[in-house]
Amino acid sequence: MTWNPSRPPFNGRLVVVGGQCSKVGKTALVVDLIRAFPGLAWTAVKVTPHAGSGCPVNGPGCRCGAEEHAFAIRHERDEAGGADMSRFLAAGARRAMWVETKAGSVEGALSTLASELAQAEAIVIESNAIVEFWHPDLLLMILDPGRPDSKQSAREALDLAHAFVFRFAGNCLVEPAVGGIVTKAEFCSAFGAAASTRHASPCATNDWRTSSYWVGRGSGERF
Ligand SMILES: [Zn+2]
Repeated sequence: MTWNPSRPPFNGRLVVVGGQCSKVGKTALVVDLIRAFPGLAWTAVKVTPHAGSGCPVNGPGCRCGAEEHAFAIRHERDEAGGADMSRFLAAGARRAMWVETKAGSVEGALSTLASELAQAEAIVIESNAIVEFWHPDLLLMILDPGRPDSKQSAREALDLAHAFVFRFAGNCLVEPAVGGIVTKAEFCSAFGAAASTRHASPCATNDWRTSSYWVGRGSGERF
Protein backbone atom coordinates (compact mmCIF):
# COMPACT_ATOMS: atom_id res chain seq x y z
CA MET A 1 0.00 0.00 0.00
CA THR A 2 1.28 3.43 -0.88
CA TRP A 3 -0.21 6.39 0.86
CA ASN A 4 -1.05 9.37 -1.27
CA PRO A 5 -2.18 12.10 1.09
CA SER A 6 -3.59 15.38 -0.13
CA ARG A 7 -3.31 18.91 1.19
CA PRO A 8 -5.34 19.26 4.36
CA PRO A 9 -8.49 21.37 4.13
CA PHE A 10 -7.24 24.27 6.25
CA ASN A 11 -4.72 27.05 5.83
CA GLY A 12 -2.47 26.66 8.85
CA ARG A 13 0.94 25.07 8.61
CA LEU A 14 0.89 21.43 9.63
CA VAL A 15 3.66 19.54 11.38
CA VAL A 16 3.08 15.88 12.09
CA VAL A 17 5.15 13.92 14.57
CA GLY A 18 5.12 10.19 14.07
CA GLY A 19 7.11 7.43 15.61
CA GLN A 20 8.43 4.01 14.89
CA CYS A 21 6.58 2.52 17.84
CA SER A 22 4.82 3.51 21.01
CA LYS A 23 6.76 5.19 23.80
CA VAL A 24 9.45 6.38 21.43
CA GLY A 25 9.04 10.01 22.43
CA LYS A 26 6.42 11.51 20.15
CA THR A 27 4.75 13.55 22.87
CA ALA A 28 8.08 14.82 24.14
CA LEU A 29 9.03 15.98 20.65
CA VAL A 30 5.74 17.81 20.26
CA VAL A 31 6.40 19.53 23.58
CA ASP A 32 9.90 20.42 22.42
CA LEU A 33 8.64 21.85 19.13
CA ILE A 34 6.09 24.03 20.90
CA ARG A 35 8.79 25.28 23.25
CA ALA A 36 11.31 25.77 20.46
CA PHE A 37 8.98 28.01 18.48
CA PRO A 38 7.12 30.02 21.09
CA GLY A 39 6.21 32.74 18.61
CA LEU A 40 3.74 30.46 16.88
CA ALA A 41 0.20 30.14 18.12
CA TRP A 42 0.25 26.38 18.28
CA THR A 43 -2.73 24.14 18.18
CA ALA A 44 -1.55 20.74 19.34
CA VAL A 45 -3.44 17.54 18.66
CA LYS A 46 -2.88 13.98 19.71
CA VAL A 47 -4.57 11.29 17.65
CA THR A 48 -4.77 7.82 19.14
CA PRO A 49 -6.81 4.69 18.70
CA HIS A 50 -9.22 4.32 21.60
CA ALA A 51 -7.32 2.28 24.15
CA GLY A 52 -10.11 1.05 26.34
CA SER A 53 -12.76 -1.44 25.43
CA GLY A 54 -15.79 -0.17 23.64
CA CYS A 55 -16.63 3.36 22.81
CA PRO A 56 -14.39 6.45 22.65
CA VAL A 57 -17.39 8.66 23.40
CA ASN A 58 -19.09 6.93 26.31
CA GLY A 59 -16.65 4.28 27.42
CA PRO A 60 -17.12 0.57 27.97
CA GLY A 61 -20.82 0.71 28.90
CA CYS A 62 -21.95 2.10 25.54
CA ARG A 63 -23.89 -0.22 23.26
CA CYS A 64 -23.18 1.65 20.04
CA GLY A 65 -22.58 -0.16 16.77
CA ALA A 66 -19.32 -0.21 14.90
CA GLU A 67 -20.30 2.79 12.77
CA GLU A 68 -21.53 4.90 15.68
CA HIS A 69 -19.43 6.99 18.04
CA ALA A 70 -16.45 6.42 15.78
CA PHE A 71 -14.39 9.12 17.43
CA ALA A 72 -14.25 11.67 20.21
CA ILE A 73 -12.47 15.03 20.22
CA ARG A 74 -11.72 16.42 23.65
CA HIS A 75 -10.34 19.88 24.34
CA GLU A 76 -7.85 20.11 27.17
CA ARG A 77 -7.93 23.29 29.22
CA ASP A 78 -5.97 22.34 32.29
CA GLU A 79 -2.27 22.78 31.83
CA ALA A 80 -1.62 21.33 35.26
CA GLY A 81 -3.33 18.03 34.49
CA GLY A 82 -1.30 14.92 34.01
CA ALA A 83 -2.33 14.08 30.46
CA ASP A 84 -0.22 14.65 27.37
CA MET A 85 -2.51 17.42 26.18
CA SER A 86 -1.83 19.29 29.43
CA ARG A 87 1.86 19.07 28.65
CA PHE A 88 1.17 20.70 25.28
CA LEU A 89 -0.62 23.59 27.00
CA ALA A 90 2.10 23.93 29.62
CA ALA A 91 4.66 24.13 26.82
CA GLY A 92 2.82 27.10 25.35
CA ALA A 93 0.22 25.72 22.97
CA ARG A 94 -2.87 27.91 22.66
CA ARG A 95 -5.15 24.93 22.21
CA ALA A 96 -4.76 21.23 22.80
CA MET A 97 -7.02 18.45 21.67
CA TRP A 98 -7.16 14.72 21.96
CA VAL A 99 -8.77 12.75 19.17
CA GLU A 100 -9.63 9.18 20.09
CA THR A 101 -10.90 6.90 17.37
CA LYS A 102 -12.22 3.41 17.07
CA ALA A 103 -9.91 1.15 15.13
CA GLY A 104 -9.61 2.30 11.55
CA SER A 105 -11.80 5.33 12.14
CA VAL A 106 -9.27 8.12 11.73
CA GLU A 107 -10.75 9.04 8.37
CA GLY A 108 -14.18 9.50 9.93
CA ALA A 109 -12.82 12.11 12.34
CA LEU A 110 -11.11 14.23 9.71
CA SER A 111 -13.88 16.60 8.69
CA THR A 112 -14.71 17.46 12.30
CA LEU A 113 -11.05 17.86 13.14
CA ALA A 114 -10.55 20.07 10.08
CA SER A 115 -13.28 22.42 11.29
CA GLU A 116 -11.59 22.57 14.67
CA LEU A 117 -8.38 23.57 12.90
CA ALA A 118 -9.91 26.07 10.48
CA GLN A 119 -8.57 29.13 12.31
CA ALA A 120 -5.32 27.61 13.49
CA GLU A 121 -2.06 29.14 12.36
CA ALA A 122 0.41 26.47 13.37
CA ILE A 123 -0.72 22.94 13.95
CA VAL A 124 1.20 20.01 15.32
CA ILE A 125 -0.40 16.59 15.29
CA GLU A 126 1.00 13.58 17.07
CA SER A 127 -0.02 10.63 14.96
CA ASN A 128 1.18 8.09 12.46
CA ALA A 129 -2.19 7.53 10.89
CA ILE A 130 -3.04 11.08 9.89
CA VAL A 131 -0.47 11.29 7.10
CA GLU A 132 -2.36 8.65 5.19
CA PHE A 133 -4.86 11.42 4.49
CA TRP A 134 -3.27 14.81 5.10
CA HIS A 135 0.05 15.78 3.61
CA PRO A 136 1.90 17.82 6.21
CA ASP A 137 4.31 20.68 5.63
CA LEU A 138 6.68 18.75 7.80
CA LEU A 139 6.64 15.13 8.91
CA LEU A 140 9.11 14.19 11.59
CA MET A 141 9.47 10.50 12.33
CA ILE A 142 11.11 9.46 15.56
CA LEU A 143 13.24 6.36 15.31
CA ASP A 144 15.03 4.40 17.94
CA PRO A 145 17.77 2.33 16.33
CA GLY A 146 17.91 0.17 19.44
CA ARG A 147 14.35 -1.10 19.04
CA PRO A 148 13.52 -3.46 16.21
CA ASP A 149 9.76 -3.13 16.58
CA SER A 150 7.82 -0.80 14.38
CA LYS A 151 4.16 -0.24 13.67
CA GLN A 152 2.80 -0.91 10.21
CA SER A 153 1.55 2.67 10.06
CA ALA A 154 5.05 3.85 10.91
CA ARG A 155 6.49 1.87 8.04
CA GLU A 156 3.99 3.44 5.67
CA ALA A 157 4.80 6.90 6.99
CA LEU A 158 8.55 6.46 6.67
CA ASP A 159 8.56 7.17 2.98
CA LEU A 160 6.71 10.43 3.48
CA ALA A 161 8.97 11.69 6.24
CA HIS A 162 10.91 14.89 5.70
CA ALA A 163 13.27 14.03 8.48
CA PHE A 164 14.02 11.45 11.08
CA VAL A 165 14.60 12.35 14.68
CA PHE A 166 16.68 10.28 16.99
CA ARG A 167 16.03 10.84 20.64
CA PHE A 168 18.62 10.27 23.28
CA ALA A 169 18.74 10.80 26.99
CA GLY A 170 18.12 14.36 27.94
CA ASN A 171 15.70 16.79 26.51
CA CYS A 172 17.40 18.10 23.41
CA LEU A 173 15.14 18.71 20.47
CA VAL A 174 17.13 16.72 17.98
CA GLU A 175 20.47 15.09 17.86
CA PRO A 176 22.69 14.24 14.96
CA ALA A 177 21.94 10.84 13.59
CA VAL A 178 24.00 7.97 14.82
CA GLY A 179 27.47 8.23 13.44
CA GLY A 180 26.82 11.57 11.78
CA ILE A 181 24.56 11.78 8.77
CA VAL A 182 22.45 8.68 8.30
CA THR A 183 20.58 8.54 5.07
CA LYS A 184 16.91 7.93 4.91
CA ALA A 185 17.68 5.01 2.62
CA GLU A 186 19.59 3.26 5.35
CA PHE A 187 16.73 3.43 7.75
CA CYS A 188 14.10 2.66 5.16
CA SER A 189 15.95 -0.50 4.24
CA ALA A 190 16.19 -1.40 7.91
CA PHE A 191 12.42 -1.26 8.15
CA GLY A 192 11.77 -2.92 4.82
CA ALA A 193 10.31 0.21 3.28
CA ALA A 194 11.06 1.73 -0.07
CA ALA A 195 14.30 3.60 0.03
CA SER A 196 14.95 7.14 -1.00
CA THR A 197 17.97 9.30 -0.57
CA ARG A 198 17.16 12.20 1.69
CA HIS A 199 19.46 12.81 4.56
CA ALA A 200 17.99 12.08 7.89
CA SER A 201 19.81 14.00 10.51
CA PRO A 202 17.54 16.81 11.57
CA CYS A 203 18.74 19.86 13.38
CA ALA A 204 15.99 22.29 14.11
CA THR A 205 17.38 25.76 14.05
CA ASN A 206 15.23 28.57 12.82
CA ASP A 207 11.57 29.24 12.46
CA TRP A 208 10.27 26.90 9.80
CA ARG A 209 7.59 29.40 8.95
CA THR A 210 10.28 31.50 7.35
CA SER A 211 11.27 28.43 5.34
CA SER A 212 14.55 27.96 7.07
CA TYR A 213 14.10 24.66 8.82
CA TRP A 214 17.22 22.75 8.06
CA VAL A 215 17.76 19.07 7.99
CA GLY A 216 21.16 17.59 8.24
CA ARG A 217 24.32 18.85 9.72
CA GLY A 218 26.79 20.43 7.35
CA SER A 219 25.08 19.49 4.15
CA GLY A 220 21.73 20.67 5.33
CA GLU A 221 18.64 20.30 3.27
CA ARG A 222 15.96 22.94 3.12
CA PHE A 223 12.31 22.08 2.83
ZN1 LIG B 1 -20.71 4.58 21.91
